[in-house]
Amino acid sequence: MIAISSVVFGEDVEREVLDTLRSGIVAQGPKVKRFEEQFAELVGADHAIAVNNGTTALGAALEIQDLKPGDEVLTSPFTFVATLNAILDAGAIVRFADISADDFNIDPADAASRITDRTSVLMPVHLYGQSADMAALGDLAQQHGLAIVEDAAQAHGATFDGRGVGTFGLGCFSFYATKNLTTAEGGMITTDDASVADRLRVLRNQGMRARYQYEVVGHNYRMTDLQASLGLPQLAGYRAQVEQRRRNADMITTGLKDVTGLTLPAELERRGHVWHQYTILVDEDASIDRDELGSRLADAGVGSGIYYPKTAYDYDCYRQHPNVVIEDTPVATSVSQRCLSIPVHANLTVDEVDTVVSAVRSAMGQ
Ligand SMILES: *Cc1c(COP(=O)(O)O)cnc(C)c1O
Repeated sequence: MIAISSVVFGEDVEREVLDTLRSGIVAQGPKVKRFEEQFAELVGADHAIAVNNGTTALGAALEIQDLKPGDEVLTSPFTFVATLNAILDAGAIVRFADISADDFNIDPADAASRITDRTSVLMPVHLYGQSADMAALGDLAQQHGLAIVEDAAQAHGATFDGRGVGTFGLGCFSFYATKNLTTAEGGMITTDDASVADRLRVLRNQGMRARYQYEVVGHNYRMTDLQASLGLPQLAGYRAQVEQRRRNADMITTGLKDVTGLTLPAELERRGHVWHQYTILVDEDASIDRDELGSRLADAGVGSGIYYPKTAYDYDCYRQHPNVVIEDTPVATSVSQRCLSIPVHANLTVDEVDTVVSAVRSAMGQ
């Protein structure tokens, strides 16, 4: 089976982990600091603050917005549920703007129509490794005095107009096992604001500035040096990994572009896509539906994934939640019924990419 994602650690990672074990410093220490510095460089941000996962990165970024009861966060309904959970955990009201089927991200025009006088934070999700339209969303945030918190969990190193995602507001990244960069579990917050970085560092460590000197009610959101040891060697080769993903995406697009019944993903103008996922849409008038395509691919030994089968709010626990405002998002609903992600990761061989392409073609009868 050709897997939809693959985790392969090289000898460089093995050496780094062993070095950490032998150093006796396994919790947050010098390697977390180095990982932060090098990650900030990748993103092009002045500061990076490592935390224990992407969900707490989002939670901490929201917590320092000092939201008042009734304040709203406007986000995408087409995302992993962590986006929604972090907002609810912060005590905010969540409202959803519809997405564009071109980039699967918040549609700025639709977002404009959903802003209320309680909207306080705009939280775009850079889904599948492609930046949202940060020019239009930045204008919108400025017009309405909104803070921007970016869910960049899937978009390490992605750019808009050459500028790294995670620098348009507070950037929140994940290093979960399936992401482009992984520390098994882990997260990072990026910012150009030194005082924000300082607040986040204190918040992550029990609200403690110096030993037993507590400034705020805090958390234990710390990353460990063991995790940073997994991440550091991957950072060194990250640009090359993204290039490999781009080559795979190009090959798949070339191989599938004449297939009727499918809409292929594209790197839009002004964006630097890092191809976390290659996600196709099965058109409504296609000969088979998304689920049938997925099962035919499985029969041909090609893994696929549905990210995501429903909008994030379309579960009883959210539909009944007093802080979730539910309004129609027809594009997100349609896309959730038609999307299928196929393997694009950097460990695919050329033969495997060919197999993916021919399996999709034959599943579509072409
Ligand atoms: C993975 C992911 C998260 C959460 O990250 P964790 O590290 O798993 O907590 C948040 N948002 C999106 C879009 C994600 O893909």
